[in-house]
Amino acid sequence: MTLVSTPEIPAELFARALAGLKPVMPLLRDLGDRFTAAGHTLALVGGPVRDAFLGRTSPDLDFTTDARPEQIQPILARWGDAVWDIGKEFGTIGARKGDTIVEVTTHRADAYDGVTRKPVVAFGDNLPDDLARRDFTVNAMAMQLPDLTFVDPYDGLTDLAAGRLRTPITPEISFGDDPLRMMRAARFAAQLGLVPDEETYAAMQAMAGSIQIVSAERVRDELTKLLLAPTPRPGLALLVDSGLAAHVLPELPALQLEIDEHHRHKDVYVHSLIVLDQAIALEGPADGPPESVPGPDLWLRLAAILHDVGKPATRRFEDGGGVSFHHHEVVGAKLTAKRLRALRFDKDTVKAVSRLVELHLRFHGYGEGQWTDSAVRRYVTDAGPLLPRLHRLTRADSTTRNVRKAQRLARTYDELEVRIAELLAKEELDAVRPDLDGNQIGQILQIPPGRTIGLAYNYLLSVRLDEGPLSEEEATARLLDWWAGRPEATAEPDSRHTKQKNG
Ligand code: ATP
Ligand code: MG
Repeated sequence: MTLVSTPEIPAELFARALAGLKPVMPLLRDLGDRFTAAGHTLALVGGPVRDAFLGRTSPDLDFTTDARPEQIQPILARWGDAVWDIGKEFGTIGARKGDTIVEVTTHRADAYDGVTRKPVVAFGDNLPDDLARRDFTVNAMAMQLPDLTFVDPYDGLTDLAAGRLRTPITPEISFGDDPLRMMRAARFAAQLGLVPDEETYAAMQAMAGSIQIVSAERVRDELTKLLLAPTPRPGLALLVDSGLAAHVLPELPALQLEIDEHHRHKDVYVHSLIVLDQAIALEGPADGPPESVPGPDLWLRLAAILHDVGKPATRRFEDGGGVSFHHHEVVGAKLTAKRLRALRFDKDTVKAVSRLVELHLRFHGYGEGQWTDSAVRRYVTDAGPLLPRLHRLTRADSTTRNVRKAQRLARTYDELEVRIAELLAKEELDAVRPDLDGNQIGQILQIPPGRTIGLAYNYLLSVRLDEGPLSEEEATARLLDWWAGRPEATAEPDSRHTKQKNG
């Protein structure tokens, strides 16, 4: 084992890191003793070391060791409450003791197969080589256990103090080995406010296209972490400016349009980033009720950056000199669904985010409160469980510098929310159903289950939305009126059956 000399660390920085690790200190010493007793090394590495210096607590603890997976497993089995080996092929054994989750990985000396970029696992036997294969110097720091010897061969602590992202080896080689590291740079820009140094940034620009060989799932996971960070904006800006976004989320850089024919503005993109910031500011506390949209909320944030992606394709310069984007919300919803599917987001996310994009303009038809109760009901029913997010997206979508206009929009939306609350209270609108159910419709019309009942049900639902709740007698009368105008109503039950068969 190569021993790495400990660089000079300002005493207060080290004291801060130790204070951050204090709650897990007994656990660290215990695990360290167990590996040492078995003749192996163990070091805390990556995220938790970096986070300790930042005064953040890491949710889980990553370790690296010279022990092989089959040697790690029995040590963790004796120590933890549960052990899993789904990462065994890649050298990782996981364990849980109480609330703490640890992952112990055999030192890596991995190579990549050069085509699919799936890491081809090669185990290493020393810490510095393992650290050289990590993504950034700030993540290539370790604390050797059991005595917490600080190991930082690539000066990660200096970079961390300077807020700098730098690869331990030449960035071209590092990104060539795993292009996902470029996405991770953007993620750390968002999560930790770190900025790539010049050489790293130049390599990102030069190699952006190689992100295409990384699986959509890995890209999606980094994009998700980026968006859920406290300040996603610098991360998104890095994605767009480096050229990475052109490959993973091309709709975002495409918003950098010149929106008027005098080519003065480039602001749909900037507008979308501001909408994102404003939407985040409207999220509630993580433990708040669902109607407060507990943050960080992936669907709201995705909808905020994507709400105007239909604009480039629908832009028209009008004769009078204006510019229009007719139906950009419909086109945008389609583009959104397509992109999120390509990124392998789950069905619920695809559906929810594209729905929010589709509905983001609806409120503008409200004018100064001209909506009928029926229009308000439809707004609520169409948004369904997405209504609290739609409220926030719509409010966040006002980025005018005209203070009076902004205040007027906010007041109008306040009014709409009051109207919705009143209607909800009056009609329990969140569970709008026709006044008769399918069984009742079948009995009244004397017809078997089938398409006609579905049509009748939809008719009663639209009556319900337009006019509010009806009594059972009223609903029955309306149903019979509707039925009288239907061709099926005049046919004899038996001949109806035959007719359909022959027709
Ligand atoms: P967090 O756990 O908060 O998301 P993290 O820095 O721990 O952040 P992980 O994705 O958990 O990130 O990875 C753990 C460590 O493994 C990193 O700190 C880094 O040292 C290393 N690592 C992860 N992914 C890569 C990669 N693609 N290339 C090189 N090293 C990586
Ligand atoms: Mg981690």
